[in-house]
Amino acid sequence: MRKACVIGWPIAHSRSPLIHNYWLKKYGIDAAYEKKAVKPENVAQFIVNLATSEFVGCNVTIPHKEKVFQAVAVADKIASRMGAVNTVYLKDGAVCGTNTDGEGFIASLHHSYPAFDLRTKTAIIIGAGGAAKAIIGALLDEGAARIGIINRTRERTLGLQEQFGSRVFEINATMMSDALKNCNLLVNTTSQGMEGQPQLAVDIRHLKQDALVADIIYVPMETAFLEKAKQLEHPVLGGLGMLLHQAVRGFELWFGLKPEVTTELYELVAADVQKAHEQ
Ligand code: NAP
Repeated sequence: MRKACVIGWPIAHSRSPLIHNYWLKKYGIDAAYEKKAVKPENVAQFIVNLATSEFVGCNVTIPHKEKVFQAVAVADKIASRMGAVNTVYLKDGAVCGTNTDGEGFIASLHHSYPAFDLRTKTAIIIGAGGAAKAIIGALLDEGAARIGIINRTRERTLGLQEQFGSRVFEINATMMSDALKNCNLLVNTTSQGMEGQPQLAVDIRHLKQDALVADIIYVPMETAFLEKAKQLEHPVLGGLGMLLHQAVRGFELWFGLKPEVTTELYELVAADVQKAHEQ
């Protein structure tokens, strides 16, 4: 029987098994997907040995994504741009790595707002970490005209600006109000607003009237930032869609069928998130 897994340390929190086992059952595929706790010191060996193991591939979660990038035999263009791998698969016996976070965000956006055309649009990204890098790269690939970055640590913003070039710019405190007035898409990629973390303190009262506001956090499913955006009558997008859509390509690579992100799957994972949030 084919098997895939998600590796992390710790791994108990991962919702990947819920997602992939839903699809395996839905499509009647005789395969399994499980959690595998792999210690940081064993990650490289696990990846190098994957081709001769019981697994056809794996997802990778915190804190292993950078180590796995180093360990795979072949990293594709997007994984190389990220310096991080979240999906590992075998091709002609070689262990290959990619990163699907950026495409997960874009697919979620298209799923919820099919008419939202990124070309000619200006986006503002709050945060400059791994998720920000994935989303900025994907937005640029989709034709976004300009992307401003707001981040606590300036060096990280400048690093992204250097990596992605002239369409990416830094937003400092004095520019903030004007930048928000001209923004079509505002995305929080920081962990602020996540359960147990401080709230995000970006004032959106002057944000362009019809700007779409997204938060990639999914615990809670609706952050205070999104609640505020809703009150101000902005269209909003939560983080759960990104989580579900980033899983699609791994499933297709391992099991040969592109799965659908259905309302039923969304509700299944949402209920699990809600349950954990209430505990
Ligand atoms: P990361 O690389 O560690 O980056 C964290 C970002 O948050 C940095 O920009 C950091 O700013 C900022 N930050 C953290 N605490 C802050 C604070 N107290 N004040 C101001 N800024 C703060 O993490 P990541 O991998 O990008 O993940 C970020 C978030 O996205 C997490 O909540 C994660 O769960 C979520 N995520 C969701 C999905 C999904 O599928 N929905 C996928 C990936 C990630 P500095 O640069 O100043 O440190």
